[in-house]
Amino acid sequence: MNLISNPWNAVFFIGFIAYLATRSHYARQTRHNEKVHRQVDGLEQFLLILVISTSTLFPLLYLFTPLLAFADYRPPALVPWVGLTVMLFALWLFWRSHADLGQNWSVTLEVRKQHQLITSGVYRRIRHPMYAAIFLWCIAQALLLPNWLAGWSSLATFSLMYFLRTRREEQMMCEFFGDEYRAYMNQTGRLFPRFTKPRPQSAPTSN
Ligand code: SAH
Repeated sequence: MNLISNPWNAVFFIGFIAYLATRSHYARQTRHNEKVHRQVDGLEQFLLILVISTSTLFPLLYLFTPLLAFADYRPPALVPWVGLTVMLFALWLFWRSHADLGQNWSVTLEVRKQHQLITSGVYRRIRHPMYAAIFLWCIAQALLLPNWLAGWSSLATFSLMYFLRTRREEQMMCEFFGDEYRAYMNQTGRLFPRFTKPRPQSAPTSN
């Protein structure tokens, strides 16, 4: 079994449990918070299924069965150390973005009854820190699991989800928060922190 034959697989598995525990803790905390808007169409459902299966099913198949062994490879020795560093940062950012969003978090495109726009903590300079954390997590998965399918597939599927979902999420936030969200977009980067002064309001707002 890969989980015990390679210690880096066990390291990944511990991080994987921490990642799922963070998510389920905040899912439980927010489950009674009423939703006033839900934007889950066929595309959003398809993306969710794709990302969840590549980020959970493939790693579990790789760790506990020989089914994906045909896609194994040997990475250079330094690679998993880099993976561990990226994983620790990803877990920290994932936890902080859930903690800062608090009751406003949803796994999909939704607006809560008393939704507040969060612009502080890790949201101060980046408007998608949770997606940044998920990207980092996918990179860590690729560096820690030496298997083309279990390692790299979630980076590919999450990239697709990010590019198809983010614009829709920002449009939804603009509909509900109007100029407040537009001003926030102007002060922040999508995935990378913005430290420069806000652009004039008439300039394009995404980066
Ligand atoms: N895109 C954000 C949040 C992901 S969770 C990130 O990557 O950190 C998705 C939900 O968070 C969306 O449905 C939206 O309702 C909510 N959301 C996104 N940005 C927010 C913000 N700045 N303040 C409050 N809620 C936000």
